[in-house]
Amino acid sequence: MSSIVLRQGLVVGTTSLEIGDVLIVDGEIVGVGDLGDVASGTTEIDATGCWVGPGLVDLHTHLREPGREEAETIESGALAGALGGFTALVAMPNTEPALDNVALVSYVLDRGARTPLDIAVAGAITQGRRGEMLAPIAEMAGLGVRLFTDDGIGVQDPSLMRRALTYAKPLGVRLAQHCEDELLAGGGSMNEGAVSSRLGLVGRPALAEELMVLRDIELVRLTGGAVHFLHLSTGRSLAMAISARNEGLAITFEVAPHHFTLDETACDQFDPMFKVHPPLRPRSDVEALRDAMRRGLVDAVATDHAPHAPELKDLPFDEAPAGMLGLEHVASLTLDALGAAEASPQEFFALLSRGPARIAQLRQSDVRVRHSGHGGAVVAGEDANLVVFDPQARWTVRANELQSRATNTPYDGRELVGKVRATIAKGLLVVNEGALA
Ligand SMILES: [Zn+2]
Repeated sequence: MSSIVLRQGLVVGTTSLEIGDVLIVDGEIVGVGDLGDVASGTTEIDATGCWVGPGLVDLHTHLREPGREEAETIESGALAGALGGFTALVAMPNTEPALDNVALVSYVLDRGARTPLDIAVAGAITQGRRGEMLAPIAEMAGLGVRLFTDDGIGVQDPSLMRRALTYAKPLGVRLAQHCEDELLAGGGSMNEGAVSSRLGLVGRPALAEELMVLRDIELVRLTGGAVHFLHLSTGRSLAMAISARNEGLAITFEVAPHHFTLDETACDQFDPMFKVHPPLRPRSDVEALRDAMRRGLVDAVATDHAPHAPELKDLPFDEAPAGMLGLEHVASLTLDALGAAEASPQEFFALLSRGPARIAQLRQSDVRVRHSGHGGAVVAGEDANLVVFDPQARWTVRANELQSRATNTPYDGRELVGKVRATIAKGLLVVNEGALA
């Protein structure tokens, strides 16, 4: 197959940090340390000044295929992910039609297998994501699906959520919840507060999110099931989830880059680029998320990468679809939240690789079918899914230079620190020198 050697990077283990080389042969890490001469024909990558760690894993990618291929495809999303340092993505099921049965899940898995990355799938909890009848969760679990969600909308009916938790428990799968009570969110288009009043827009209150977090914590307590909270956006949501996790309940949660870098005042100009659900919150919530990340209290950063065709994002704020791109800038934004120069490399990989791989059950010891191991230690014997990240490189986001088919990034023109230099996925060099190899 192929041999690659990464030279003199800072190798970020689960507890260790050491400058050295990493040798990859035929899809596997075979040596770490000062390796000296290697076999001729080996591709040499200079990783001096860079972090070398496990490839990033995204728990929350909207690949839009089937149904919205003008915004993204499994292939274009995978390539955008590779440029962002990802080696595995979990494809969300809110496609058209929704991924709520074995045939559609198989379709995405088969298409995903033709990309350079590992594409896992989250199946829908309910048929058509309509929140009425359970989808065939056990059959999808038989294909290796480990996460189920109706993302885009939470499961509104508490008795249905209770039944889903009870049903999912013996299967060893986890339900991922988009936490917003739609009756309270009331069709709003931004955070409810002083800014929405001033702009004359209907708001989605923080309480719409927090009530569902509270409800699902209690349903987990009742059923013994497992829930992963998607894109939590308020300090109170985090506090509730952390305290439930500390009690030993099977609760995990993710935060999304827009929620820890942008606040509600970004909606001031009625630019639908900043419309997202849950909405951008006040500065105090942004700071609460960043603080929790730095203190090692967050299980995962997940992008909620949500490409939209340009004509849809040209609509008025309250009519435009919610969501923004994430895959290609999340690593830089996470570094920023962790304190840039003071950022802990271990925490960076805990948030972007090891945490999400554990939640998606994509570690080497978990995966049985289709996917290779992610989020592991950088040691001999592990599958070669790796990223080389330069924490000092500066670059400017240009919406029309992104690999994604869509351009709806709220960071257009913004200078960021930290850049992916190389991505090795399934043992192959997919990104080199910051570009597709
Ligand atoms: Zn969502």
